[in-house]
Amino acid sequence: MEYISTRNIKKTFMFKDVFLKGLAPDGGLFVPKNFPKYNSAELENLRRFSYKDLATKIIYKFCNDEFSEQEVNNLVQTSYKNFRIKEVVKIKKLGKLNLLELFHGPTLAFKDIAMQIIGNMYEKILRKNNLKINIIVATSGDTGAAAISAIKNRKNMKIFVLHPDKKISEVQRKFMTTVNSKNVFNIALDGNFDDCQKLVKLMFNDKAFRNSANMSGVNSINWSRIVFQIVYYFFAYFQIAKKGEKINFSVPTGNFGDIYAGYVAKKMGLPINKLVIATNKNDILKRVIKTGLYKPTKAYHTVSPSMDIQVASNFERLIFDVCSRNSSRTSKLMGDLNKKGKFEIEKKELSKIKDHFISESLSEEETKLVINRIYKSKKILIDPHTAVGLGVLKKIPLKGNTITLATAHPSKFSEVVAKSTSLKPELPEKLKNILIKKESYAKLPNDLKTIQKYILKKI
Ligand SMILES: *Cc1c(COP(=O)(O)O)cnc(C)c1O
Repeated sequence: MEYISTRNIKKTFMFKDVFLKGLAPDGGLFVPKNFPKYNSAELENLRRFSYKDLATKIIYKFCNDEFSEQEVNNLVQTSYKNFRIKEVVKIKKLGKLNLLELFHGPTLAFKDIAMQIIGNMYEKILRKNNLKINIIVATSGDTGAAAISAIKNRKNMKIFVLHPDKKISEVQRKFMTTVNSKNVFNIALDGNFDDCQKLVKLMFNDKAFRNSANMSGVNSINWSRIVFQIVYYFFAYFQIAKKGEKINFSVPTGNFGDIYAGYVAKKMGLPINKLVIATNKNDILKRVIKTGLYKPTKAYHTVSPSMDIQVASNFERLIFDVCSRNSSRTSKLMGDLNKKGKFEIEKKELSKIKDHFISESLSEEETKLVINRIYKSKKILIDPHTAVGLGVLKKIPLKGNTITLATAHPSKFSEVVAKSTSLKPELPEKLKNILIKKESYAKLPNDLKTIQKYILKKI
């Protein structure tokens, strides 16, 4: 498997580079030179596997120049040891609704599924190559917690996490700030998530800083995260669909990482009809699909904070594909975004997006009503992100069965769930101690130089 950048298709990279660098040197995102493909017989052959064995088969295809299949299997087995259910994920059927529960990992959101493997993979690659790195990551709440859980107490690695001060839930914050580990540093930034993400991108593009900090990234633009997330689309498909049957996935979306993994699954041959981009009030992707104009506006703070994003970084990967993998066209559009604050795609490019995707959004009020409705009719509590994924389905006509990704455990957003249902979801027993542990984090201004100085002092 070889990789290229969305902004230069001539130069190829190996999995190790892609994994450690995160962002391509030209500022583009890494993508496979060719997507691996399963024909229908090969696909059916995957149906019999357990989650962990399926994960091994799929992940191995993307990193076979770095690891043996046995090594991948060991990584997978170790990484999912601490999940609360053996099969890692679970389908819950509620009448016609299918919820794919992705929140049974250590920090109660789907991000654990990729991040736990990333932690172990880093350790393995760093040891093999005798390297040390510092991970710098921006979070809208869940990535940071998942990354810290995966990296804490490891050798040869430090992790710095920027979260937007006061714009994430209390439980989200505590998952990050109560981890008492010498290699973990939390920064509460005076700004929103887009500011955090922008600072991290600036640090990556600052060559001198990047080198002196030995910087590595685990944001959702990291290709490996996408790979590890592809697995549950296949696994869920086999639980619900008969051979060849086309189904839909509804995906609560922010940075376009999770749903892009679904798109890759489709490219690999999984029979998917539509991928539903479900957004909250931050509905830039819905507007793009309607008009072809990608124009970030102000980010709103909502009850589904992990999707309070205007610059959906992974969208560049889709843009690259729909302009026929033309890297100069992709570079031009991304240049427009930088210089003019927007870019516009052509009709034929837009129609290619519409072949695979459909998008709707939910207001704050609607999101709370969905939490309430599902509680009343199905007797279960869902988190506000999952509610967005379910709620949009009432607004769009879809053919065939649909699986909605349940991206977080309701107790991670207990305030809004309690407000909507009068019932407070409880944290799993083993995790309750985070509520009373001492927190530690630095409050810093939205200023690149200050953040860089802080990081250089700690490494
Ligand atoms: C991160 C996150 C999302 C959005 O996922 P993207 O890959 O950024 O689109 C949705 N729900 C929850 C709970 C999340 O943590």
